[in-house]
Amino acid sequence: MSATHDRERQTLFERSRPGRGGGKVPHPPKDALSRIPSTYLRAAGAALPEISEPELVRHYVNLSQLNYAIDTGFYPLGSCTMKYNPKVNEWAARLPGFAGLHPLVPDELAQGTLQLLWELESALAEIGGMKAVTLQPAAGAQGELTGILMVRAYHLSRGDTERTEVLVPDSAHGTNPATASMAGFRTVTIPSAPDGGVDVAAFRAALGPHTAAIMITNPSTVGLFESRLHELLEAVHEAGALAYMDGANLNAIMGRFKPGEAGFDVMHINVHKTFSTPHGGGGPGAGPVGVGEKLLPFLPSPRVLRESDGSFRLETPGERRTSIGRVRAFVGNTGVLVRAYAYIRANGGCGLCEVSDDAVLAANYMKSQVAEFLDVPFDRHCMHEFVASAATLKAETGVRTLDLAKRLIDYGYHPPTIYFPLTVEEALLIEPTETESVETLDAFVEALRKIVAEAHTDPDLLYAAPHDSPVRRLDETTAARQPNLRWRAMTGSQTPCPD
Ligand SMILES: *Cc1c(COP(=O)(O)O)cnc(C)c1O
Repeated sequence: MSATHDRERQTLFERSRPGRGGGKVPHPPKDALSRIPSTYLRAAGAALPEISEPELVRHYVNLSQLNYAIDTGFYPLGSCTMKYNPKVNEWAARLPGFAGLHPLVPDELAQGTLQLLWELESALAEIGGMKAVTLQPAAGAQGELTGILMVRAYHLSRGDTERTEVLVPDSAHGTNPATASMAGFRTVTIPSAPDGGVDVAAFRAALGPHTAAIMITNPSTVGLFESRLHELLEAVHEAGALAYMDGANLNAIMGRFKPGEAGFDVMHINVHKTFSTPHGGGGPGAGPVGVGEKLLPFLPSPRVLRESDGSFRLETPGERRTSIGRVRAFVGNTGVLVRAYAYIRANGGCGLCEVSDDAVLAANYMKSQVAEFLDVPFDRHCMHEFVASAATLKAETGVRTLDLAKRLIDYGYHPPTIYFPLTVEEALLIEPTETESVETLDAFVEALRKIVAEAHTDPDLLYAAPHDSPVRRLDETTAARQPNLRWRAMTGSQTPCPD
């Protein structure tokens, strides 16, 4: 590590030198401090680092460059659709009319934003084959909760109080069973069949008068289209239950498959995955929910309505008594929704089909090459992502998926999703997205191929990876259970940082 690197690793507090400062206030009045009432004056100076402006700028710019981002490299994180985010979305989201609009302005002064939201609802309803959409939920997981709360309201509205269970396949995202529990249901786990789809016999055995809904991720988390969907949906509806589709993987099927037309009653869409917006940085997202006829009355309020004169307004409180109510303040994360709108308009209907087609093509292209040196458990045409496994490699060399992932960091890549889905041993879930060039896909596959070769010749190199990153291998359990999130002053000449 170079001297500059070492210096970057110092915190601002460690770089602080008494009396060193940033901006200058010209000619402060001599009595500046005595003008402030004494109750508001500090007894002692604030324990802030004292640092010059150029050092401060370098500190933060260097820190920002430690971030791995789509704008800096390939990010094949399965189940997350880490696609490139077109800059035109950022331009649109920052237009002062959208960005500066106060959420409490009367509807008459928010016509542009209301129109955009109304049109986005229509576009998403069209894409999902749904009757209507709410844009309120703040992310996919909250969309799930919104959807399942509507399912509950539906059953209760018919006086059916016996439906206490939600069926969830074992390959589902952890948010699905969490949602069912939060909404007050018991989760019944349905095993997968050997081909990766839902085990229909187990599913039928679990289905009954207690079933409120099934939650199906389609394409599934192993990257496969649910081939027995028709059979599953028919059985669900015969049993009087509803079908929820986790639409996080919509990037594979847009324009090619409409879940509502296939019989799903409700689905969420992760617009921060499928319709761009930076995803993965922990920033805001949005999880619109589409519903079919049965759940229409229960949509969260307020909905955006279009009047007969073409103007737009928000529903007034209590206007629709069947609504499950509000799930989020105001109308949702509008900045993210503006980005989604810009993305959809820029692509157009045909463009969205191409997005899915190219995402599926890229994944199959990579899968066929990765199969040359890792296990690829499902020997079927995959959708926009595929699952590989290092189970055989581990048996032969002792090298695990975690070691491969850590070594990829040395090669300059963000690792794919690992150990998910839980149903595949030593899993790597690889999602290239449609926005990467064939050269990028080839280069990543070659890096992975070299690493697998290293596993055979020099496994120790992999056990100790990463070698070239600012932090080496972390104790991930301790990092998750006892995260050390706050800098505490070290002993010595530094002013202690107050708790
Ligand atoms: C990302 C994801 C979710 C959760 O969505 P968030 O927007 O992160 O809350 C749910 N299901 C699947 C399959 C996902 O990939």
